[in-house]
Amino acid sequence: MATKRDYYEVLGVEKTATQAEIKSAFRKLAKKYHPDLNKDNPDAAEKFKEASEAYEVLSDESKRKMYDQYGHAGVNGASSGGFNGFQGGFNGADFDFGDIFDSIFGGGGSSFSGFGGFGGFGGNSSPRATRGADVLMHMSVSFEEAVFGCEKKIKLDVTEDCEECDGKGGFDPEECKTCHGSGTVTREQHSILGAFLSKTTCPDCGGIGKTYKKKCTACHGKGKVTKNKTLTVNVPAGIDTGNRLRVSGKGNPGSNGGPNGDLYLEFSVENHEYFIREENDIYLEIPLTITEAILGCKKEIPTLYGNVKINIPAGTDSGDKQRIKGKGIDNKTNHQKGDMYLIMKVITPKKLNRNQKKLIDELNKTLLEDKVLSEFDNFTKKNAK
Ligand SMILES: [Zn+2]
Ligand SMILES: [Zn+2]
Repeated sequence: MATKRDYYEVLGVEKTATQAEIKSAFRKLAKKYHPDLNKDNPDAAEKFKEASEAYEVLSDESKRKMYDQYGHAGVNGASSGGFNGFQGGFNGADFDFGDIFDSIFGGGGSSFSGFGGFGGFGGNSSPRATRGADVLMHMSVSFEEAVFGCEKKIKLDVTEDCEECDGKGGFDPEECKTCHGSGTVTREQHSILGAFLSKTTCPDCGGIGKTYKKKCTACHGKGKVTKNKTLTVNVPAGIDTGNRLRVSGKGNPGSNGGPNGDLYLEFSVENHEYFIREENDIYLEIPLTITEAILGCKKEIPTLYGNVKINIPAGTDSGDKQRIKGKGIDNKTNHQKGDMYLIMKVITPKKLNRNQKKLIDELNKTLLEDKVLSEFDNFTKKNAK
C-alpha cells in the first residue's frame, strides 16, 4: 500500500490555511474529481476519496489539531469506515456533505449520505443502502454494580421502521411519474465547467422508482419513526472503566433501507471507599494497632462476599501482605476470577496519655535488648570518635 499523502498537500493548501481556504480548495477538487463527472477517469474516485478524507480532517478543528500533532496516526480510522477505536464510526455524522454537493449540483438528491457512501462511487447513481453511524454513550456505574453486574435503564431516541407502513412511507404504490420507475433522472447542469449531463437520484421517489398514492400519516411519509425508548441493559459482572458494551441496532438510523448503526456503552466505574480494584484483584488496607502487630491477633475483615475472620501473625510489619484466594472479582466479561490481597498497616499512635506513655517507656527498655537494635547501638558507639 502506498504511503498516505499529507492532507495539506492533497488539498493544495498551506499549513496555516483558514477554514474558508480549506473549504474552497476542497470544492475545486470535488468538482474536478467527482466520480459522476469523471466516468472515463478511473483515478477520479480514488482522488475524490482522498480529497474528501483530507477535507474531513482539516475542516474539523479538533481533528486538524490531532493531525498537526501526530500526523495520520492522530486521526487514524478517519477513513476506515470500520469500527476502529470509534473514530471511524462517527465520522459521517458531523460531515456536511449536503452543503458541498448542493452547491455543485444545485440541490436535489445526489446519492451521498455521508462517508459510508464511498463504495457507491463509480457510476451507479441509485441510492445505496447505508448503515447508520454507531453511537457512543458513556455510563457511570458504582463499584458494586461493576463487580456484581447490574441492570441499567437508559432513555434514548431510537429511530426505527414505521410499523404502520412497514417502513415504506405510504400505501398503494404506483410507478413514479417523474422517473418512470427508473429511480434516476438525467439533468443538464450548467456550471463554470460548462454544461454536462448528470444522472441523479429521482427527487420524487428517492430512487426507489415508486411513489405511494396514500402517504402514511404515522411517519409523514418518511418510513421511519423516532421514539424515546427506555432500554434495559444487562451489565455483566466484572465490567471495568473503559470497557464497552455493544447494543446492536440502537445507533443512528441507516439511509435508503440500510440498517441502524450500533449503540456502544462505555463504562466508568466509581471508586470504593475501601476496596481498591486492580483488574480482577481486590486490595484492602488493614489498620492494626502496634500491639496487634506485635502480638498478632484474630480479626474480622470485610470482603466482597461478606466478612471473614483472618489470623494476623505476631511480628507483623506495615506493608505485609496476605492473599485470600478467590475473593476477588468473578469477572463474567473475560471469565477470570481474581484474589483478594490484604495490606497490613500499623497505625503508630500520635498522642499518648501519661499512663500509656509510662507503659510504652517500660516496654521500650526491654525492647532495646533486641539483637538488631543492640548491634546497631554498638556500631554507633564505635563510630563516635
Ligand atoms: Zn422517481
Ligand atoms: Zn409510516
